Parts: sequence; structure tokens; C-alpha cells
Amino acid sequence: MTALAPHTVFAPVTLVGAGPGDPDDLTLKAIKAIAQADVLYVDDLVNTAVLAHARADARVIHVGKRLGCAMIAAAKGGNQVVRLKGGDPFIFGRGGEEVEALSAAGIACQVVNGITAGLAALTTLNTPLTHRDHAHGMVFVTGHGKPGAGRLDWVDLGRTAAQAKLTLVVYMGVSTVADIESDLTVGLPPDTPIALIQNATLPNQRQAFGTLASLRDTMTTHQIASPAIMVIGDVVKGLLAAKQPLDQAPSYNPVPEAARLQACA
Ligand code: SAH
Repeated sequence: MTALAPHTVFAPVTLVGAGPGDPDDLTLKAIKAIAQADVLYVDDLVNTAVLAHARADARVIHVGKRLGCAMIAAAKGGNQVVRLKGGDPFIFGRGGEEVEALSAAGIACQVVNGITAGLAALTTLNTPLTHRDHAHGMVFVTGHGKPGAGRLDWVDLGRTAAQAKLTLVVYMGVSTVADIESDLTVGLPPDTPIALIQNATLPNQRQAFGTLASLRDTMTTHQIASPAIMVIGDVVKGLLAAKQPLDQAPSYNPVPEAARLQACA
């Protein structure tokens, strides 16, 4: 067995993915980076329980979504800086912009991956994003692009997803759910199953299931609010058939492969 590196050396600024919410979803690398930080800049969606790994004398600054000049000054002043972000820094986390800003300021940085909410959300329901019988791949997509950057062509995306059998995983889609529903139904069958998962991995997680034709209604009826992930695709079929809440251990329909594995049990 390979031993864990005893002392990982991190760049002066490390962007760390804090995972979707459950502090147990942190990676070992994330824990090590947090433990070594002199200063931690913490994003909105980060569960502050992960700060239990920080040194008692570390400075913790809650900065919301924006990278401040203070962070660059802290790094230039010789501090070991950690920027904590919800989920993964490079999945809709503006990590790309921050790496560019740090590079422009001449500050070495590195990124530690975290478990992204779009992956964790369906996993809490024992349901995969890909499945040999249901989905050849998946698309992580934002329902809320940068202002002025132009809206994604959801009609086209729906057609592609139908034709290529792709699971759609929508982040930040709560406020645009009506448009998403009407545009996707042009290309995807209205009975395509959907799952909505709010506060995934946290004790207050809630979820609701339905079909694409009832995407907005399902969200309204079950009062699903941000932060929430929408999953659209046939991988959700089993959950829909089972219609079980999380505490009754839902799982997708037995399929040939699952049946084969069950036969071995
Ligand atoms: N970098 C993050 C995403 C940031 S964008 C990641 O990789 O997960 C913010 C969006 O992520 C939210 O609007 C929501 O769509 C989703 N999100 C983040 N945490 C979530 C959670 N615990 N449950 C459900 N959705 C979540």
C-alpha cells in the first residue's frame, strides 16, 4: 500500500473545492490545504463545518462570490492562502477567472478538486448519471449564464440530448425553469423523467420527481428552491417508478446488469 504524502506543499494560493455540503465529502488533499492555510477566503455555498480543519490561528474571511484584491495582497505578503469554493472550483465556480486574475498578478496558484453538486445530488439517491442502458454521457449546464453572454440554445441542447442519449444536469436553473421546460420539450419527449434535488448531501436535503412536461409544476408544488440541481434524463426512470422518498432507499429499476449482479449476491 502506498503511504499518504506526509506533507503536501501547496502553491501560495490554493483554490479548494469544499464539495456539495456534507463535510465528509472533502478530499484528503482539501483537508491538508485547509490545515496549512494562514488565511481562508470562503465562498457563499461552502459549509463552514469544513473550517474545523483550519488552524486555530488562521484568519477566516467570508467573501461571497467575488475575488477581492485583499486575497492577492495576502498572498503577496507571504501568507499561505486558501480560497474555499462550493463543489468543485472549476465547475461553475468562477475558478477559471480567479486563476487568470492570480496569474496576471504573478501569483502561483493551484486547484484542488471537490465533488461537484451535480454529481453528488443524484448519487445521494443511488442513481448514476451514466448507465449503459439509459445514458451515453452527461452535460453539466448552467440555467443562468453571465449577463450579456447570450442565452444557451436549449432547443438545440434538448435535440442533442435526445439523439445522443445524454443526461442533462442543470445548475442554477431555478429562476429560469419555465423557459428550460418549454425549450427542452421541443426535442426531448415530454415524459422524460426529471429529478430536482435541493441542498444535496445536507441534513435538509429535499427532492422531487416528475417528467419534463411537469418540470416547473414539480418545482412549484414541492417548493424546491436554490441551491438545487435538476437532472433530466432516462437515468431517473427508476426513481420515478419507485416514487419513494430518500429515507426509503430508492434505487433505479433492476436492469439486466443489475439483475446479473443481484443473482450473484
Ligand atoms: N462549483 C459548484 C457550483 C457553483 S454554482 C459545484 O461544483 O457544485 C451554484 C449552483 O450549484 C447552485 O445554484 C446549485 O444549482 C448548485 N448547488 C451547489 N450546491 C448544491 C447543493 N448542495 N445541492 C443542490 N445544488 C447545489
